[in-house]
Amino acid sequence: MRRNRRVKIVATLGPASSEPDTIRRLFEAGADVFRINMSHASRDKLTELVRAIRKIEADVGRPIGILVDLQGPKLRIGEFAEERAALAQGDVFCFDTRAEAGNKERVFLPHPEIFEAVAPGHTLILDDGKLRMSVRDVTKDRITAEVIVGGPLSSRKGISLPDTVLPFGAMTDKDRADLEQAVNLGADWMGLSFVQRGDDVAEARKLSRGRVAIMTKMEKPAAIEHLDAILEQSDGLMVARGDLGVEMPLQAVPGLQKRITRACRNAGKPVVVATQMLESMITAPVPTRAEVSDVATAVYDGADAVMLSAESAAGQYPAEAVATMDSIAIEVERDDNYDRLLHAQQITPEATGADAISAAAHNIAETLNLAAIVCYTGSGSTGQRAARERPRQPIVALTPIAATGRRLAVVWGLHCVLTSDAENLDEMVDKACRIAYREGFADRGQRIIISAGVPLGTPGATNMLRVAFVGENKAENI
Ligand code: PEP
Repeated sequence: MRRNRRVKIVATLGPASSEPDTIRRLFEAGADVFRINMSHASRDKLTELVRAIRKIEADVGRPIGILVDLQGPKLRIGEFAEERAALAQGDVFCFDTRAEAGNKERVFLPHPEIFEAVAPGHTLILDDGKLRMSVRDVTKDRITAEVIVGGPLSSRKGISLPDTVLPFGAMTDKDRADLEQAVNLGADWMGLSFVQRGDDVAEARKLSRGRVAIMTKMEKPAAIEHLDAILEQSDGLMVARGDLGVEMPLQAVPGLQKRITRACRNAGKPVVVATQMLESMITAPVPTRAEVSDVATAVYDGADAVMLSAESAAGQYPAEAVATMDSIAIEVERDDNYDRLLHAQQITPEATGADAISAAAHNIAETLNLAAIVCYTGSGSTGQRAARERPRQPIVALTPIAATGRRLAVVWGLHCVLTSDAENLDEMVDKACRIAYREGFADRGQRIIISAGVPLGTPGATNMLRVAFVGENKAENI
């Protein structure tokens, strides 16, 4: 089974899509990776969902990626005596360290670190952007703020501090426990929320010990400032436009999306564009024109994947939302302008064997009008470098490691096939031709280009290119 597009689709699972039959329908409609959001799912639910996905994977015989998105250090205010306080523009409101029910003048803020880091003039955003305040005065146990945008503020609502670098790492005790469970269940990607600095990712990397790939969510102004350091420490990034649009002006989000996408493409690391892509499909069977255009823009920009959140997790039309994304992507990738826009960004190979070989494979495939690029990849790195080139030809990534195929499910253009390593060069060529034919990427009489590291199975040794004919019964090399 092959997809007719290069960009991948990530679908979030939730109450509307927890049943195995629905998950299967989402896969059939086009979902390549399933995301489980630990802000909402319990560890029991996580276990149930991972098992259901792996069962579908075994049935359909295609690697499926699983992204477990950790909640991260979401900051919340304490409780109000009367459940909520009505705050109006110009009111003065205080956050303090007294663990007592709040009122119209004050509320408990159970995060002592904030009092040390915040300063007069900093903005406070509450309830996902509905209320906004400006800090007037700070002491070690009280923050006094003026309400700029008022409204009702109720117990335990979230608070964000876009101007303040907070002395927290990116992982809470709950995140650590969720991570262990996710790793034990064989999750492929871990989403890291509310990262501020490269060191936050390094800390998570230490905890994960290479057992899961790290996808850092770009959702804080401080993270944008440290984009390069964060990207270096991460295996991929997500443009988490929901929280990014709360902490940054909304009109800055499209430019940031392009900046993050370009940085990832240049580094050859996957980038996922997320949140509100087809938001109206939560309650309607068709999206708005603007939403279609939003998905199309991410595809034209060469993002590795586009993501559905509430549309597939809690909406009325989860499978329709995936199918809509699928058809938008197919149409965009067929457009004459797609290739030109995709290659408007110049990507130069780095001085490594994998990059030189991948660039050469792309070049030869173009010059000889070959049917497909087939690469043998153990760790997945050669697959990613081949995808970084964004070639017109399909890329078939062959790997003997199931975890690699699953991890690469999110990467642009890679069709991964699990297969044992070849014994020798002839078998390697023969296997590549047979799989390219069987999976529908090359017809008899067409040629493919194969990249591999010889001796086979040596990590990081991509050093060989071979052009081969897909013959009548077996590969006949040229
Ligand atoms: C986002 O903020 O866009 C996002 C993907 O994160 P979450 O769904 O966890 O809020």
